[in-house]
Amino acid sequence: MTDTALTQRHVPADLPTTIRHYIDGEFVDSADGDTFDVLDPVTNETYATGAAGKKADIDRAVAAARRAFVEGPWPRLLPRERSRVLHKIADIVESRDQRLAELESFDSGLPITQALGQARRAAENFRFFADLIVAQADDTFKVPGRQINYVNRKPIGVAGLITPWNTPFMLESWKLGPALATGNTVVLKPAEFTPLSASLWAGIFEEAGLPRGVFNLVNGLGEDAGDALVKHPDVPLISFTGESRTGQIIFGNAAPYLKGLSMELGGKSPAIVFADADLDAAIDATIFGVFSLNGERCTAGSRILVERSVYDEFVARYAAQAKRVRVGYPHDPKTEVGALVHPEHYDKVVSYIEIGKTEGRLVAGGGRPAGFPEGNFVEPTVFADVPADARIFQEEIFGPVVAITPFDDDAEALTLANDTKYGLAAYVWTNDLKRAHNVAQSVEAGMVWLNSNNVRDLRTPFGGVKASGLGHEGGYRSIDFYTDQQAVHITL
Ligand code: NAD
Repeated sequence: MTDTALTQRHVPADLPTTIRHYIDGEFVDSADGDTFDVLDPVTNETYATGAAGKKADIDRAVAAARRAFVEGPWPRLLPRERSRVLHKIADIVESRDQRLAELESFDSGLPITQALGQARRAAENFRFFADLIVAQADDTFKVPGRQINYVNRKPIGVAGLITPWNTPFMLESWKLGPALATGNTVVLKPAEFTPLSASLWAGIFEEAGLPRGVFNLVNGLGEDAGDALVKHPDVPLISFTGESRTGQIIFGNAAPYLKGLSMELGGKSPAIVFADADLDAAIDATIFGVFSLNGERCTAGSRILVERSVYDEFVARYAAQAKRVRVGYPHDPKTEVGALVHPEHYDKVVSYIEIGKTEGRLVAGGGRPAGFPEGNFVEPTVFADVPADARIFQEEIFGPVVAITPFDDDAEALTLANDTKYGLAAYVWTNDLKRAHNVAQSVEAGMVWLNSNNVRDLRTPFGGVKASGLGHEGGYRSIDFYTDQQAVHITL
């Protein structure tokens, strides 16, 4: 380690050195005592060991969750009563946002200001589903004089929640909020690269009054703990966020049990910039769209398609702005791109940068930034003139790397936009209202932002098409996923 890294590294006070499972209201180690190393991305030194869960630990956690579902009060509480607990959870998360952000930033390498935003979003997710569940109305259908039919919505049971390492705490809240609001009990398997913030849920939930056994946490590797959760016969639901390839494996493993599956998967989202767009706004937004959250963002606009008449100007201005994006230590409030999560992921991103050098024209970045000899730091990297068959155009890099490609007309823009296996998000920049809506209709993406950054409205569907996902969450769609809808028919 260099002096720079030593002096710049910020270690949060009271950092735990062991990260354990939380099962039936108790912190416990793995049944076989196995652990895995948890690294800090600034130095890549092990700062803690995580309990490496296996089938025995998942069995224990599922049994506790099942008991809490069958015998406990949680599924039987009135929505208002569950809502109160969820609001309390949101209050506690909000009141600890600085500490949460500090730990998340340390564990994941995310810039501290952005980690703080994610902690607040986590609170908002709980608050949103707390409100939604009390506003929930179920359908009733009348056949005059003959029949009344109504929908009886019921929690399903033990929900298995499997989450990735990018914005871990926030993404966990996106599943925990609706799963708990609807009266299910849960087993959470967080990503092994970033287990720190997930371990904080236990204390928060206890303080908020969530009954014992409702929330269970098993750490460990995907192929061990995650696999056992997917294959557990008493877990009827799996909500998964992660890579498309992992989604395929989970889909196959869940098939014999006919489980309910919700999958939020990878992306290679296009940002289409037409010549008539407000270029200042488009450049700012597309810079933010791929370099915020270290580029480790499922909805990153990682392919920018630019109309040829403004292409040269766009590329020159974009490259200049990318060079001004500030890479720094994650805890520094001035940092805009921190350290990538893990050396394995760093190697993947850097290998794509090397591939990109043979596929496109490097106009910004391209390697390790000066002054950061250690840790997972990567310069914001921009490739121009990238052809559609390039790997950096087709494959998800999940880092601060963007491919820019010119197009000549609307039809070509759409062909290029749709020319990947993914279909998560799309961004369109134009001042022509008709064109904006027409492109939105034809682009293969679960979510489209017109002249806008990626700003979420929690009531809208969140999810992708093609290899980017299966099903939608968000608003009542989350409630639908986590409940059975029983039809009750009454003859008059
Ligand atoms: P990943 O697929 O490697 O891992 C995700 C989770 O699945 C981890 O907890 C992992 O341990 C677990 N897992 C791995 N193999 C498993 C198996 N065989 N059975 C059960 N569980 C298993 O993904 P990642 O690298 O942690 O996350 C990055 C990916 O997530 C990117 O592709 C990104 O686009 C995607 N993502 C999607 C969204 C979305 O909403 N669409 C949001 C965030 C991230």
